[in-house]
Amino acid sequence: MSEDTFDAIVIGAGENGLVLGNYLGRAGLNVVVCERRLESGGGLSTEEFTIPGCWHNTGAYYHDTVQITPIYEDLGLVNANTVYIHPPVQSSLLKRDGESLTLFTDLEQTESEIARWSKEDAQTWRRHSEAFQSALNPYYQPYLLNPAPNGMGYDDFDSRSELTPLEAVQADFKHPMTQALLLSHFMIPRGILHNYAGAGRFLQLVVGTAASTRIVEGGSHELAQSLWTEQLRNNGWVWDSTPIKRILIEDGQALGVETSTGRKLYAKVVVSTVDLQTTFQTLVGQEHIPQELAQQVQDYQLEEFSLFVLHAVLSEAPQVNAKDDHASKALRWTLGFESAEDVQEHIRQVQAGEVPNRLGAIVSCPSLHDASQVLPGKHTFLIWQIVPSQLKSGAWSDVADSYAEKIWNWVGEYIPNLNGKNILKQVAMSPQDFVTKWQYPQGTVFGGKAAGAQLGATRPIPELANYRTPIKNLYLAGAYMHPGAGIEGAPGYIAAKVIAADLGISIPASV
Ligand SMILES: Cc1cc2nc3c(=O)[nH]c(=O)nc-3n(C[C@H](O)[C@H](O)[C@H](O)COP(=O)(O)OP(=O)(O)OC[C@H]3O[C@@H](n4cnc5c(N)ncnc54)[C@H](O)[C@@H]3O)c2cc1C
Repeated sequence: MSEDTFDAIVIGAGENGLVLGNYLGRAGLNVVVCERRLESGGGLSTEEFTIPGCWHNTGAYYHDTVQITPIYEDLGLVNANTVYIHPPVQSSLLKRDGESLTLFTDLEQTESEIARWSKEDAQTWRRHSEAFQSALNPYYQPYLLNPAPNGMGYDDFDSRSELTPLEAVQADFKHPMTQALLLSHFMIPRGILHNYAGAGRFLQLVVGTAASTRIVEGGSHELAQSLWTEQLRNNGWVWDSTPIKRILIEDGQALGVETSTGRKLYAKVVVSTVDLQTTFQTLVGQEHIPQELAQQVQDYQLEEFSLFVLHAVLSEAPQVNAKDDHASKALRWTLGFESAEDVQEHIRQVQAGEVPNRLGAIVSCPSLHDASQVLPGKHTFLIWQIVPSQLKSGAWSDVADSYAEKIWNWVGEYIPNLNGKNILKQVAMSPQDFVTKWQYPQGTVFGGKAAGAQLGATRPIPELANYRTPIKNLYLAGAYMHPGAGIEGAPGYIAAKVIAADLGISIPASV
């Protein structure tokens, strides 16, 4: 094989590209994963960008589906130094008056905590949690780790396939705080808003994983490093700083890729993990696809929201204004959402393209749970304010500084020692920065709207839902594919299985 010829070329070394590359490598294929950025990992990004020695997770942070996917075990990532931390106090909704609703890894504790507010909700929570565990192997895993069939064949899921999250949550849970907390878990890390049609089907998954969130010791990028290391051991390469300019196509067949410097690489199989529209409009080129498909790709809807992110280094640990001491130890805090109505009002502003003055955020102090991410005696702090990806007027750069200040003041109402003296350095990231940094379309971060026909068997569009494309030997594996963002590496895993089936080889997939 010449140095420019491989069995498989994967475009993009985010989680999906690296998972895919590893599985294909394990099947004996010679693989190269090409990454545009200086560092591989995509959304698995940890950076030292405030004070040297203090690390910030600038992309994905909450890994709540690790226990669903077999990827970490299959690929032996523990041996490659991916160590997950599972904090016992997981998630707390903080009210302005100091009351709270907290979820624990221990179901008994969660149940008695919810029962403080609603005995009925506590029982419902237990019922869904136990049902989710029972349904995990027979239903959820096969559904989430294969090209989606129409429905799951499991009534608790299929019966909600026409509902929005709001409808599903309100049908089963009665207390405003339980409802608000669940809707916040739909948003982060699932990327699903309360009014997304059909996404109510995920209610039990959201309950079942709400207290499953892990963080990677040393930061999320350590997971990318492990995948990268394993790729080298698994018959392959990861080439960073290698943007792909186009996919080479002849007679309706993908032959390889051309890099931005004009180097041509050839392979039997090419896979894109780059967003759907860039894949077809730029890398493939409209001339190589039927007009109808080009239109469907153009019509694919991105989610209308993104995150306005604040990272900071603190000189002392945050002191949360919570009457219950457990709440101040939580991995994530939900602020500003005390009821479903709060969520609706906030998201109304987001969906109208306004800079929300009705604030609602997911907040964390990563160093409380992993001291390795910060200098001794200091703390890292993270705020995700949910915002429109695109403003109806003006640009994020015009408002970022004043908005950051507004958010700090507001979060300070819940955590009073977050003040100028305690904040040693802070950096704001707006959706505009996600375009520059990762080239995420319109600054969106969850791979496209998880609603209606863009869910399940028809995601992203019916013609592409089986991971193949009309161009022979060209496959897809990004978060725009089923099951979407937030299910760690699932599109990469599924693509590996589809490609292996087409090539008549076997991979070590266990689901
Ligand atoms: C701020 C933020 C917070 C998030 N929080 C969470 C969370 O807490 N939990 C969660 O589960 N998910 C979260 N996500 C979403 C998660 O990061 C994504 O679902 C995941 O990264 C998708 O993986 P991917 O491999 O499909 O894409 P990416 O990780 O985006 O990887 C695609 C890669 O392709 C590269 N690329 C693009 N164009 C080219 C080209 N022409 N040539 C070569 N390479 C190219 C990109 O640089 C990138 O590295 C978050 C995302 C962001 C941005």
